[in-house]
Amino acid sequence: MAIPVLGLPIRASAISRRQFIVQSPASPGIRVLTAAPTRHNLPARGPTPGGTSERDPVKIICPGCGASPVGGPRTWECPGCGAGYKGLRGIVDLRTAEDGFLSNREDWDHARRLDDDFDRIDFRGLLDRYFDLSPGIPAHLRRRQVDHILSAPGRAAAWLAALGPAAGSGPILDLGCGSGSFLAAVGGSGRPMAGVDIALRWLIVARKRLDEENLAHIPLVCGNAERLPFADRAFAGVVAGDVIEHVGDQDATIAEAHRVLRPGGRLFLAAPNRYSLAPEPHVQVWGVGYLPRRWMSAYVRFRSGTDFRSIRTLGYGEWKRLLARGPFGGGRIEAPGLPDAELVQFGPIKRRLALAYNGVLASRAGRIAARAFGPMFHVVCTRSEDPPRPRGTIRPTRRRSRRPAAPG
Ligand SMILES: [Zn+2]
Repeated sequence: MAIPVLGLPIRASAISRRQFIVQSPASPGIRVLTAAPTRHNLPARGPTPGGTSERDPVKIICPGCGASPVGGPRTWECPGCGAGYKGLRGIVDLRTAEDGFLSNREDWDHARRLDDDFDRIDFRGLLDRYFDLSPGIPAHLRRRQVDHILSAPGRAAAWLAALGPAAGSGPILDLGCGSGSFLAAVGGSGRPMAGVDIALRWLIVARKRLDEENLAHIPLVCGNAERLPFADRAFAGVVAGDVIEHVGDQDATIAEAHRVLRPGGRLFLAAPNRYSLAPEPHVQVWGVGYLPRRWMSAYVRFRSGTDFRSIRTLGYGEWKRLLARGPFGGGRIEAPGLPDAELVQFGPIKRRLALAYNGVLASRAGRIAARAFGPMFHVVCTRSEDPPRPRGTIRPTRRRSRRPAAPG
């Protein structure tokens, strides 16, 4: 059956059932799941990292000792270990390691310059300013990245739906929140949310976007995915879109997402497929994923002059092994259809290819082929309801050891 979506004939089967329910064809693409203003999205006085107010229930912790730093909006102190932290615009820098892409010092320089312009220009202006301050990004990649950022709210509904009913109305973490697209799209519903990113410069842009959307109460924090500055079991859901391929340690990232999830909570990841038949999405070069890893960076530099050193995309088999050896013990790995929010940005040829791809996903054989060669993966992992069981430890022993020893 063909149904008109944004004026395009898209077969109902081309859109996954889950996506279809949430992303109504009547209002596709544009800000989804936003609600009328509530007391939650009234401008607040800026988030407190401790998360002590009712409006801001997500607790941010010192990565050194687990206590909540106090202070802001530019300096904080940890009452637990006495460590001092700095930040900008209420965004505390709790990083424990350098980003492989840009040093933290360079990131701070970039962030300060954005902060200088923060009150002077709007979100779109600040986004342009971001790229003006990033001379290493060629014009065609900049255009792609801006399109990707502006179309992101259209993907938010599918990401939220992937968390499933288990997430209920509990807190959600946007891991690697970047410019805050997901938070901006979903934050209006009033549910507690938080965003974390390794790039302070991106968080300044996100802060601007959220403030403009009356979402000043959503806390943003600068931190490493491998060492999240949040308490154990703080979230009902974690989304990590286009993040896992950028982190330094993918196993540690999965383990940290598991740690901050409640039992029954879900992690959703979106990531490009290493073996996609389409060009590598970060650098727009064909066939990178088919090379041995040690050749990739030199090849990308030769073909496009761009840096690929900090990117590690995974194929289906690599995903399976990553999840199987981590605390989730596995997960659902699917090749999703391309959402209509994305299709409208494509040229006619690319759009036809995308529609054909969505058609392929209607069959079981097509879905298997798409897992091998499709452009991207959606991955869902659920934290088991049982207490976590460290490898090599027998659970009953560990549980008993937590209780005080019986007298005499
Ligand atoms: Zn501390």
